[in-house]
Amino acid sequence: MRIGFIGLGTMGAPMARRLLEAGHDLTVHNRTREREAPLTALGARGAATPRECARDRELVITMVSDTPDVQAVVLGEEGAALGMDAGSVLVDMSTISPATTRLIATALGEHGVAMLDAPVSGGSEGAERGTLSIMVGGDPEVLERVRPVLEVLGSTITRVGPSGAGQVTKAINQVIIAGTYAAVAEGLTLGLAAGIDIEAAHAAVSGGAAGSWCLTHRGPNMIVDHYPLGFRTRLHRKDLGIALDAARELGVSVPVAAYVEQLETSLIGRGLGDEDVSNIARIVREQAGLESEG
Ligand code: NAP
Repeated sequence: MRIGFIGLGTMGAPMARRLLEAGHDLTVHNRTREREAPLTALGARGAATPRECARDRELVITMVSDTPDVQAVVLGEEGAALGMDAGSVLVDMSTISPATTRLIATALGEHGVAMLDAPVSGGSEGAERGTLSIMVGGDPEVLERVRPVLEVLGSTITRVGPSGAGQVTKAINQVIIAGTYAAVAEGLTLGLAAGIDIEAAHAAVSGGAAGSWCLTHRGPNMIVDHYPLGFRTRLHRKDLGIALDAARELGVSVPVAAYVEQLETSLIGRGLGDEDVSNIARIVREQAGLESEG
């Protein structure tokens, strides 16, 4: 397929590389143009603007940071929308606001361009290996047209509803992560303060009803108070901001997510936003009077 790919960051670069390796005809654009070089060396064509990147493409994929960034690269002065033909498809794989997603989809629809929101989970490792979990909102027929391309990027592709539903699903994911990480930090801190054999306690509870991915994979880091990446605290805080806005619009109270967003805001203020999101254990430990390095 003729694909334009915009945003070659931690996630976008390996995703674009996989599409090239799968034999697609790829044009790439990154705001910092030097980041296009590894892809053009593999056969992609570099484009000076999102508009140029989108020209003559059947499919345009965006993978940039936040809501205003997607608005800029799609609907901005030199945005992709200006280069796209009627009948083509834009798939936004960034994590952004569901409400703004629907506005962008409506604006594109007026030009005959279909849009899917398709945020992902699985991290940079999933992007490298093509094992992302992709949560899709939008027209099912449009999804079927681009599914073979998404299958190069992800191992689980789930349509969850109309435009914006993919982003709502990603918000659900991030709210659940917030509560899980906070609870694991609190439980382990309780054990540390009690002075029991915390590794034995960790093993004991991991096998029972309290078991979770977070407890298994991030609990050991919380125990030793060391937080290598993983998933950056500042990115998770951005995603919780999206979830809190959506919850407010819907009149839904999400106090645990709001509390964790505040903990993360404090960590970012202390210069710790590039650590793994499991670093909320730092604050829980400090509140318990345990020593912390940060
Ligand atoms: P990243 O490494 O920070 O890369 C961000 C990309 O967006 C860069 O290519 C950047 O260009 C571009 N960009 C940002 N603002 C822009 C603007 N206003 N105009 C044009 N380009 C702009 O981020 P990432 O980790 O790849 O994440 C991308 C998206 O995936 C985010 O929405 C994130 O929440 C989501 N996500 C990330 C992970 C993860 O583990 N990293 C996992 C799941 C989902 P420059 O190079 O010029 O800065």
